[in-house]
Amino acid sequence: ATPIAMLATIGAAAKQGILIKGGKYLEALAKTSVLLIDKTGTLTHGQPAVSQVVVHAATNEAEVLCWAAAAEQDSEHPLAKAIVRAARDRSIDLPHVREFKALAGSGVQAVVEGQTVVVGHQRLLGEHPLQAQANALEQQGQTVIWVLREQQVLGLIACADRLRADVAPAIAQLRRLGIDTIEILTGDNRAVAANIAEQLGISYQAELLPADKLAIVRRYQAQGHHVVMIGDGVNDAPALAQAHVGIAMGVAGTAVALDAAHIALLRDDWSLIPQALALALRTMRIVK
Ligand code: ADP
Ligand code: MG
Repeated sequence: ATPIAMLATIGAAAKQGILIKGGKYLEALAKTSVLLIDKTGTLTHGQPAVSQVVVHAATNEAEVLCWAAAAEQDSEHPLAKAIVRAARDRSIDLPHVREFKALAGSGVQAVVEGQTVVVGHQRLLGEHPLQAQANALEQQGQTVIWVLREQQVLGLIACADRLRADVAPAIAQLRRLGIDTIEILTGDNRAVAANIAEQLGISYQAELLPADKLAIVRRYQAQGHHVVMIGDGVNDAPALAQAHVGIAMGVAGTAVALDAAHIALLRDDWSLIPQALALALRTMRIVK
């Protein structure tokens, strides 16, 4: 049976917007030794904006945006939303799509006006005609999205996202509560990850696929660590489920992440994470 003190804490936490799906997660949270954090949508606002369009085989920027936005219109990824918003802002009419497919952690694919369009990470490409431009943009901390039609590179779309203001104080508090290992796990490129990691004074692993995030959780667990994973996306779900405690950023996050996680944050507020840990530590001191 769940001790009364734990039930009381779960109730109190719920009132603050921290939904804990069972007493055992409170117990596990109190033992945290490694904290792994997704980047896009979790550490950053997740509302990147298109900052630049580079034209290659397309005629102009609008054409690159048009094909990309058409393929992205059914995606719930923050980068997809940025691209669709940029197209709408320029009053570009989006053609119909068929056979939309999310390529987890890499991008999307769809058939637009009978042609296969792929939008996403460089790993989806065979050749890299715009390598120099892509590298330069990444060095500036931008996320570069490749737009391909029938395997031909139409152009690049660069997006920039900002670190949330409430993350740094929360990380400082988590350190005070005794968590030494805090690491970013991201599918984004190294330069972007390094930039965010440096601002927070934490480590990072970049260019990860959803399966890589899962493998990293397992590796820490095999070393005897108690792993907490925080994320918001479909790509985080396997790692959230595998972690001793998976925490989903609820309000802006995806339903898949909410479902996979053991704790859901119902308010968009990073201070809830050290709050949850402090509650867990206090409760387990009482229970023991
Ligand atoms: P994170 O781990 O930081 O949340 P994701 O795993 O969601 O990032 O995405 C990793 C990378 O895959 C992105 O940086 C981007 O290059 C690419 N990507 C994923 N989804 C999309 C999409 N819908 N449109 C374009 N690119 C995408
Ligand atoms: Mg994410």
